[in-house]
Amino acid sequence: SARKTAAIVGGGVIGGGWAARFLLNGWDVQVFDPDPEAERKIGEVLDNARRALPALYDKALPAEGQLSFHDSMEEALADVSWVQESVPERLDLKHKIHAQINEFAPADAIIGSSTSGFKPSELNEGGDTRVIVAHPFNPVYLLPLIELVGDAAICAKAGDILRSVGCFPLTVRKEIDAHIADRLLEAVWREGLWLIKDGICTTEELDEAIRMGFGLRWAQMGLFETYRIAGGEAGMKHFMAQFGPALEWPWTKLMDVPEFTDELVDLIADQSDAQSGHMSIRALERLRDDNLV
Ligand code: NAD
Repeated sequence: SARKTAAIVGGGVIGGGWAARFLLNGWDVQVFDPDPEAERKIGEVLDNARRALPALYDKALPAEGQLSFHDSMEEALADVSWVQESVPERLDLKHKIHAQINEFAPADAIIGSSTSGFKPSELNEGGDTRVIVAHPFNPVYLLPLIELVGDAAICAKAGDILRSVGCFPLTVRKEIDAHIADRLLEAVWREGLWLIKDGICTTEELDEAIRMGFGLRWAQMGLFETYRIAGGEAGMKHFMAQFGPALEWPWTKLMDVPEFTDELVDLIADQSDAQSGHMSIRALERLRDDNLV
């Protein structure tokens, strides 16, 4: 069959992860990123991916595709069947880039945006409906979930391609800010800020509370299946009757965000440095990848 080629527009942390995901699944990858450092940075992500991804499979991955860097959008988008945009999270920049992508992408190519926050209708403000959100999670080469938002037929076609490179596409039923997963994480993040600001725990203690307990349960069954089991033979209805009333009382501070003062930022940064400042980001990435595998 013909070679499959993806274009990566913006090759930072996320674009680099997408490049690795496609390359290690046998696709050719054409990168457009004006930063002269992009090639080196993608090389580092690829090193991590080559180290971690094969350990997930009990058979060999396909032969790696070819990676090339291009000075023009036109060249990078030639003959591709997928364009993944991962430029910084600014709507004016995304609009500018998507106008160019629309000009040069083959008519039948999927155009995905990695945006964590913007909705397809915002990306497509020009009236087009072609751009879909294809929102990944870092490290993109290991975490399967891709949230798809946008035109149903395009999302269905995109989902098939994503499954073929080891991803788990999840189509979001209605567009909202931050899709499903980041909306959930925003609530967790806000509550975490309060717990640290109020001196209840340090960043390290909060992380231990997640990773030694409910984080493990979440990772293998999620939220609702976990609680279904907690309800026992009496089931989910019983569980909700028992714990629902407690949730109606506002014992969390979920509606409020603590003021992001210099003092709070310093407190968190200092605690985080004390927690793992003795390790390089590179070493932390590899620890994370080993744990994930
Ligand atoms: P980043 O800053 O690491 O990378 C952005 C890259 O885009 C840089 O390499 C930069 O040189 C390049 N770039 C800037 N202007 C460009 C242009 N005009 N044309 C082509 N390339 C250009 O950012 P990131 O963390 O990789 O985030 C990129 C996108 O992915 C954002 O929309 C973000 O919301 C989304 N996202 C991020 C994460 C995360 O955890 N970091 C997770 C999911 C989605």
